[in-house]
Amino acid sequence: MFDKLHEECGVFGIHGHPEASKMAYLGLYALQHRGQESAGIAASDGERLIASRGMGYVADVFTEAELGRLQGSLAVGHVRYSTAGASKLVNAQPILIDCVHGQIALCHNGNLVNATELREELVADGAIFQTSSDSEVILHLYARSKAVRPEQAVIEALAPIRGAFSLVLATADRVIAVRDPHGFRPLALGRLGDAYVVASETCAMDLIGATWIRDVEPGEVLVIDAAGLRSEKPFGPATLSHCIFEHVYFARPDSYVVGESVNTVRTAFGRQLARESGVPADVVVPVPDSGVCAATGFAEEAGLPLRMGLIRNHYVGRTFIEPQQSIRHFGVKVKLNPVRSILGGQRVVLIDDSIVRGTTSRKIVRMIKAAGATEVHVRISCPPTISPCYYGVDTPRRSELIAATHTIEEIQKYLGADSLQYLSMDGMLNAVNAHRAHYCTSCYTGHYPVPFPTDHSRQVQLRLIT
Ligand code: SF4
Repeated sequence: MFDKLHEECGVFGIHGHPEASKMAYLGLYALQHRGQESAGIAASDGERLIASRGMGYVADVFTEAELGRLQGSLAVGHVRYSTAGASKLVNAQPILIDCVHGQIALCHNGNLVNATELREELVADGAIFQTSSDSEVILHLYARSKAVRPEQAVIEALAPIRGAFSLVLATADRVIAVRDPHGFRPLALGRLGDAYVVASETCAMDLIGATWIRDVEPGEVLVIDAAGLRSEKPFGPATLSHCIFEHVYFARPDSYVVGESVNTVRTAFGRQLARESGVPADVVVPVPDSGVCAATGFAEEAGLPLRMGLIRNHYVGRTFIEPQQSIRHFGVKVKLNPVRSILGGQRVVLIDDSIVRGTTSRKIVRMIKAAGATEVHVRISCPPTISPCYYGVDTPRRSELIAATHTIEEIQKYLGADSLQYLSMDGMLNAVNAHRAHYCTSCYTGHYPVPFPTDHSRQVQLRLIT
């Protein structure tokens, strides 16, 4: 409904806990913001993996009885937003297969840039695919490996693969966690009593009382079994390319990503934005919820009051019945409502984390003006989004990104705003602690660290064969 880039997926794994599937359920609950289309868990009692998957939210997919079927001390789980492969149950994860190495369940966050090419080779060689998801390619390559140990077969399977992958896999007796050598998508390691936990974000660990130990390192393969934790780094060196957009928008502000508090980084973006593009105003208003942290930083730095001038209805479902006589801007109004007592007669600085197509931002600006604001100055806490993501984030084509085809002045005019400023690239990268060259910023620059096929339609949406 909102004009945002969509989250990709969330992955979770736990080994050594008597209620592993329930911990996975709670972990996925905390990762729900990373994918709302489907959810799944696979658990093992040491002998056999059982998986359960469904369409919708974690709370809707799993009942007490369903979790009761998923017995054992290890479990892996996944929440999905489809980046490659259509949104349907067959593409939900974990994908569970049985092959020469025994059973294995796979949960993948990211996007493989050469999946189409590899899939075509495999199909030509007789492989039968069950899904249209890029992730299944990994399992086909795994099944063909001649390696003896599952982790060696996983490493062999990943050798020809390029792109973004944070993986959590389970066999009957072990959990294997892998992060691609560029470290595009996050993956954290934690401890819960004697159990080890891996999760896309640390907020999943907070909910179950686990302690974050460290991130799974780029290029690291972690094996967790009855003998404990083993780590190896079998892949060659690669340029680090952590997704900066995790800090801008995707990750929950209570998480730590690339070792840094998302809230702290996001607030620093807002402070820097105020230094770069302060404007005479009366009040700072965030677009909830994603603009709140940056708005806090902006207001602190600018010495302006922060007010919740837009109230978000958190209970809106995916669809709603619209009256026949159409209501103006109904789609936005049903989710956001302006507070006239805050906005009336005020010069407003409106803070949001990004503009994708610009359609929602335009409606919000109009809504705020209709509520009595005398001026609306839009400030965006990242640079203009000018290029699609090929590493696991759902972005429209370049032609649909308003900043790819319009100047800032043109966008300001389209929004109906009194001024529009974006955070500079330097300002954004100066706000993170890690080395600035260690971040992927491709959607802002159009320069990609890992090449991808030029046929966009083939890359983003693999053809359905089911
Ligand atoms: S292109 Fe943008 S969204 Fe995609 S990984 Fe890079 S920074 Fe993240």
